[in-house]
Order: sequence, then structure tokens, then C-alpha cells
Amino acid sequence: MNSSRKHVDLRAARLLTLDTEPYLSCAECFDRMDEYVEALLADPAYDDERMRTHLTACPACAEEAQSLMLLVAEDQSTTP
Ligand SMILES: [Zn+2]
Repeated sequence: MNSSRKHVDLRAARLLTLDTEPYLSCAECFDRMDEYVEALLADPAYDDERMRTHLTACPACAEEAQSLMLLVAEDQSTTP
């Protein structure tokens, strides 16, 4: 019983580490999002590994980035 509880704790700890350590935090992601979206729209080959990785792992930021991208794309297409 004890060992299975320990196992869950380890997995939870690893998930937490995965979420923040090698990659951006949500706050950092939000800070860079404008820049990232604009760069991506200007150059589809643009890549920011840390942003991309965070967006892949974080549905909340991915959704935010997606709507921001639509917004910016719309804005650019209506601007002469
Ligand atoms: Zn996030």
C-alpha cells in the first residue's frame, strides 16, 4: 500500500517538473506569446523550441496562442 502511494507521488512530482523545468512556465509563455505569434505569421518556418514545447504540453496556452494567431492574422489581412 505504501509503495503504491509512493509511486503516485513520484509520478506527480515528475509531471510537475515536466511542466515547469525544462520548458517555459505559463507566465513566460504568455509574455512571449505576442512575439512568437507575430514571428510565426511573418515566417512559417520560424521555430522557438521552448514555446513550441510548452504549447504542445499546455492546452490552456495553446488555445490562447491559437486565438491570438487568428486575431493577428485577421488584423494583418484587413490592414492595407
Ligand atoms: Zn501554459
